Amino acid sequence: MNIFEKDQKYIASTYKRKEVCFVSGKKSILTDSKGKNYIDFGSGIAVSSFGISDNNLVDAISGQARLLTHTSNHYYTLPQVELAELLVEKSGMSKVFFGNSGAEANEAAIKCARKYSFDKYGEGRYEIITLVNSFHGRTMATITATGQDVFHQYFNPFLEGFVYAAADFESVKNAITAKTCAVMIELVQGEGGVIALDKTFVTNLASFCKENDILLIVDEVQTGIGRSGWFYAYQGYGILPDIVTSAKGLAGGLPIGATLFGEKTKDVFTFSTHGTTFGGNPVCCAAGYSVVSRIDDNLLESVKDKGNYMKEKLLALKGVESVTGLGLMIGVLTTKPVAEVVDSCQKKGLIVLSAKNKVRIMPALDITYDLIDKGIEILNEVLNETFA
Ligand SMILES: *Cc1c(COP(=O)(O)O)cnc(C)c1O
Repeated sequence: MNIFEKDQKYIASTYKRKEVCFVSGKKSILTDSKGKNYIDFGSGIAVSSFGISDNNLVDAISGQARLLTHTSNHYYTLPQVELAELLVEKSGMSKVFFGNSGAEANEAAIKCARKYSFDKYGEGRYEIITLVNSFHGRTMATITATGQDVFHQYFNPFLEGFVYAAADFESVKNAITAKTCAVMIELVQGEGGVIALDKTFVTNLASFCKENDILLIVDEVQTGIGRSGWFYAYQGYGILPDIVTSAKGLAGGLPIGATLFGEKTKDVFTFSTHGTTFGGNPVCCAAGYSVVSRIDDNLLESVKDKGNYMKEKLLALKGVESVTGLGLMIGVLTTKPVAEVVDSCQKKGLIVLSAKNKVRIMPALDITYDLIDKGIEILNEVLNETFA
């Protein structure tokens, strides 16, 4: 059996994989089992912040792995505290809870919001408003939070206490009742098609939440860690949430999730009200430190510049109808169907993602201009070749 047949036999069929098996890579180049190279415009869904097997990351991981691989959260470990301190410094938030994924970070945010409200107001104030077209994960609570009907099948009953509103101030305000404890948003809806929320909407919403003691949860799982051109996208929007969730790019390729709490929420979780075995694993946190410590103002400036450069070049291509997104999180609406574009790019040695009907481009934060040009040239060929 070849790898494709074995995968089909032994792996649960939750993914519609592309017919390629990657065996190695360096920075923004991936290499498959036949030795063919690909330019990586996907970073494994905004995860490999500094590309594949980046030297600093590999050193941080292997150095920590040689020292201490795991202890459990019953004990103190250095990498966890060091990463938390760095995240607090860069985010303006106050405390961190470490988990292992984006969905888990959102679970902690949901639990925290409900406990904050319970502690202060008692039973019954538990509703969380999320946006139509949002994506918050695959666990029971986070698929319920996800504002897309396609996710609300098969697994009944879903959780109580989630309400969906359109991404405008009036709709959210109308959805708020005496039962509302929090509003949860992505500032750029990633899976929803790389759609940035309107700035006035977001600032109005943030002030309204503050005035009414409704917690604002910002899901930065995809937008965070420099991806938007800001360390967290909310910094570009000029707001400070009560809870922030982070994952994907945080440890540059290793599994990690972080829930960040602001002043209001930093002491809501008390002993044994939440926890996880693997969360804050020393190797993952050392990887996170290696990534986060490199995201300084210079890097963020270059992410903005490269994002603008890519957007301009993409907009000039024949076959591109519109370009959306922030920083190096870019959605491209093409005249050709997105599935066809993604597959043809792969054949020609370029990895791009999709989000709904758009081509989604999220390269490593430090991708070179040379590879940006080469990748866009491949996309241009794909958009303009005619099939016989
Ligand atoms: C990917 C994603 C999640 C889920 O993260 P997992 O690590 O897959 O659990 C949640 N929210 C947003 C915005 C995401 O992009």
